[in-house]
Amino acid sequence: MHWKEGLVNDVTRQICPDDAAVEIRHLTVSFGKTRVLVDVNASLRCRGVTALVGPNGAGKSTLIGAIVGQVPYEGSISFCHHRRSGRRRHRIGLVPQKIEFDRSAPVTVLDFLCLADQRTPVWLGRGPRLVRQAIEALEWTHSTDLAHKRLGVLSGGELKRVLVAAALRHKPDILLLDEPAAGMDLHSSDLFCELLERLAQDNELSVLWVSHDLSAVVHHADHVIALNRTVLFEGPPSQVLTPERINALYGLIAIGGHPAHCVDCRTGTPHERLG
Ligand code: ADP
Ligand code: MG
Repeated sequence: MHWKEGLVNDVTRQICPDDAAVEIRHLTVSFGKTRVLVDVNASLRCRGVTALVGPNGAGKSTLIGAIVGQVPYEGSISFCHHRRSGRRRHRIGLVPQKIEFDRSAPVTVLDFLCLADQRTPVWLGRGPRLVRQAIEALEWTHSTDLAHKRLGVLSGGELKRVLVAAALRHKPDILLLDEPAAGMDLHSSDLFCELLERLAQDNELSVLWVSHDLSAVVHHADHVIALNRTVLFEGPPSQVLTPERINALYGLIAIGGHPAHCVDCRTGTPHERLG
């Protein structure tokens, strides 16, 4: 599962003194007159798994949309990783929260993985280079046995592994996953989280993982960012995910006397940052 070689760590340290792959500063997103994200400041760790947690409607998917350039924003998002890998531009792989497709379509997993990169229709035959690339990506997610299965018959967990393979096939520096384990049983979700951890370690990949499973976050993430329209706190999961903060994040009680839903109060005070 290794694809990165010859990384120059000293240069990395000069460029990324805080070991950040992505730095988000004073980011605000509005849809019409509604401000969905307000003064978001956070960093995504280099070569590790950062979890993004928060209640429904907190703006997690919107933040991912801003990082991949699909959602307009004010503020700044800086990328450091591509300088480490020597590429001119960073590469981002995205596993979206959901995909819509016709489950009855006669499209195999291999067809699906080759489809986006192929210039001719897949029914005219798949290019050997693209097939090799697709098989390699399936190996990274332990999914080669799925190559010839029809996409429409895959289980939720299998489909997610294929979507991760699709996101990995161009060897990204940064992998963003929006609720990848949603709908999986506990065992599949655990295996999936282990896979993410291993991919991040073996390939020096920076992973941002949206999750509602705080226990999985404690076990598998190096860093957690708690978002509810703005960042409430961030740090090492086992240190910062205290019952009081979790309750405040999900709107049950307040931190420091501020109502948990009060964005104006929260943006007036710097968010908690540990580690
Ligand atoms: P989360 O992923 O944390 O559940 P989202 O980022 O999907 O939250 O949504 C945050 C808020 O932004 C929600 O209130 C949602 O309705 C709103 N929103 C998201 N996308 C759009 C859009 N394109 N236009 C208008 N409102 C949107
Ligand atoms: Mg979402």
